[in-house]
Amino acid sequence: MMALIHNLGFPRIGKRRELKFAIEAYWAGDITQEELRQRGAQIRQENWAMQSEAGIELVPVGDFAWYDQVLSTSMLVGAIPARHQSDSSNALDTLFRIGRGRAPTGCACAASEMTKWFNTNYHYIVPELSAEQQFALSFNELFEQVEEAQNLGHKVKPVLVGPVTYLYLAKCAGEEFDKLSLLEHLLPVYQQVLAKLAAQGVEWVQIDEPILALELDTHYRSALTQSFAALADQGVKLLLATYFDEVSSYLKDISEYALDGAHFDLVATPQNIEALNAALGQERVLSLGVINGRNIWRADLSAIYEQVQEIAAQRGDSLWLAPSCSLLHTPVDLEQEQLLDGELKSWLAFAKQKGEELNLLKVALERSNTQDIDAYSAPVKNRRTSSRVNNAQVQQRVAKLSSDHGQRHSEFALRAETQKVALQLPLLPTTTIGSFPQTSDIRKARRDFKAGELSAEAYEQQMQEQIQYAVREQEALDIDVLVHGEAERNDMVEYFGELLDGFAFSQFGWVQSYGTRCVKPPLIWGDVSRAAPMTLQWTQYAQSLTDKHMKGMLTGPVTILFWSFVRDDLDKPTIANQIALALRDEVVDLQDGGIKVIQIDEPAFREGMPLKASQWQSYLDWAAYAFRVSASGVDDSTQIHTHMCYSEFNDIIGAIAAMDADVITIETSRSNMELLDAFEHFDYPNDIGPGVYDIHTPNVPEVTWIKDLIHKAAAKVPVERLWVNPDCGLKTRAWPETREALQNMVIATKELRQEL
Ligand code: GLN
Ligand code: ZN
Repeated sequence: MMALIHNLGFPRIGKRRELKFAIEAYWAGDITQEELRQRGAQIRQENWAMQSEAGIELVPVGDFAWYDQVLSTSMLVGAIPARHQSDSSNALDTLFRIGRGRAPTGCACAASEMTKWFNTNYHYIVPELSAEQQFALSFNELFEQVEEAQNLGHKVKPVLVGPVTYLYLAKCAGEEFDKLSLLEHLLPVYQQVLAKLAAQGVEWVQIDEPILALELDTHYRSALTQSFAALADQGVKLLLATYFDEVSSYLKDISEYALDGAHFDLVATPQNIEALNAALGQERVLSLGVINGRNIWRADLSAIYEQVQEIAAQRGDSLWLAPSCSLLHTPVDLEQEQLLDGELKSWLAFAKQKGEELNLLKVALERSNTQDIDAYSAPVKNRRTSSRVNNAQVQQRVAKLSSDHGQRHSEFALRAETQKVALQLPLLPTTTIGSFPQTSDIRKARRDFKAGELSAEAYEQQMQEQIQYAVREQEALDIDVLVHGEAERNDMVEYFGELLDGFAFSQFGWVQSYGTRCVKPPLIWGDVSRAAPMTLQWTQYAQSLTDKHMKGMLTGPVTILFWSFVRDDLDKPTIANQIALALRDEVVDLQDGGIKVIQIDEPAFREGMPLKASQWQSYLDWAAYAFRVSASGVDDSTQIHTHMCYSEFNDIIGAIAAMDADVITIETSRSNMELLDAFEHFDYPNDIGPGVYDIHTPNVPEVTWIKDLIHKAAAKVPVERLWVNPDCGLKTRAWPETREALQNMVIATKELRQEL
């Protein structure tokens, strides 16, 4: 007997985002719920078929979700916030209400919060639990889907978000309490779930406890032990799934859990296979996540073969092989891509191909013959040395980077003096974050240009008209530092990716970000360089229209890195530095072209944070350095801004200071300026523009309300170092509300200049 191959989860959105379109059609009232359910079933059927045709022996069930797997879990255990409950509507509508605050049946209630799923770009719906929370088995979809898959002839492995991870990710509704006190009420529901699955003939159930990738306190550790003890003996075998990082400090705990097998991610961080093997012993299944579940690169199967050959021979069918984590984070099928050239395509594998890779590996192990996998892996080896990938000039430039490259000429206090003279800005300067409303005209022009239906001249002219419009509006509003409005940008990363060398774009490489929202990250496949200026022409045109300062607008190296599929043959700091150098050239070009204020956005700065707190600092060091490399090529008189959206700043305030931007604008209005506390306590020295109104709604903020927020900010940050701006870019808004809101912002500021 040889290793068994299985999968932890498959992308649920469908090859062509069918699920997104079906759900949105249902929300719009264009299709019935029955039709929506049929389309969901169709996608599941295709997903299972793709996996079993690839040779996957145990296919996951329960990885499909109408919105999010954590939300499905809340439904399963009956944890529905009171404001989303309704007698009159069915479970699916309730689920959508929790996810988006409204549903076809209507509800005037806010959606539940969502937040990032560990260190991925996927967002889950945060369960809201009260101290008296009751749980009850309530949602039958898992059992229905098990039956559905079985009827199609598949051997299934249901997947559950583990009870301890579920509680860990939840928030306390109302007053804070010890969430683990709910475990004893939650476990009986999980027991019922397992017993029902056992009655359906299920042999294995996968319990995901990804919190094991974190640094846990002893309460959570004993909760995990307690949980597995409670879940054992319900008639099914339990496979613990861990992923996203190594779990070495919990191996002893895991060895003592009452379980039948455990899965480990061998890709995120190398782990000692012998230690994992020893922890489980021969009687239990050892599942190794050998194929990268979060990336799009073809695996080097020959290397993996070497890695697992011995353990495979020793363990036989008590060794399982799988992707490192759920394939939720990869696009569905590479075969659909028509525009990538053959060589580039030969370096890639999407979800379907990753299943095929596992099968190739299994067959090679069975036959002790590596011929096929060597042939399969040959392009991966070629990629490493390809002259397309490697750009000697870029590599040399990165190798020569020193601490000097990460340093402005003078420290902030001196720069601030120089800039004061150079820029002549009033107290509380007003600005915006970059984008202005992306009207249908703008989107149409971009689309037509891309499709070749609009000439370059006509496109340029239309974009210039948009820039003119934005500049006139801002001048009429009397804003101090203007922006060109980003009309030419579809997306803040894609725009730069398309202009930088080393990037490629797929046609259908979508991954779910949250709910029905999908993103199509660029692929960073080679050394990154800038062939020509990327933003100079638009920015200079905009500057030519006004006597006020026009702010150049760039996306920072860390954000470009984390919002892309990044190459796996180079470490992230090096890739970030390559991007940073390309941006540095752009920043210098902007300065030399007469632009005195340049913003380098880093909304994803926090996203790269490692899961283990002990590794944060080394990440923050290289991330802040890469930012500084992009920003430090200019004179003292050039003012560098950065921007971050909503973020928890306490953990990163030191790194924000290390970025040393002259001005940072942040999203603070919904926190009532509380997010500024981190800056206050740290004595953050540089200028800050705390957002004074929420841009996520069309509501126009009142003057008094804005003044009140600025007062609050001025209590925490000296007013000489405060800027006034909205929370974030305005591209999702329409002009009428934008105009009114900014007008109130300027009025509030002018009044305060008199009063303060
Ligand atoms: N400059 C970008 C904009 O205004 C920033 C977007 C962001 O922070 N995500 O749209
Ligand atoms: Zn933002």
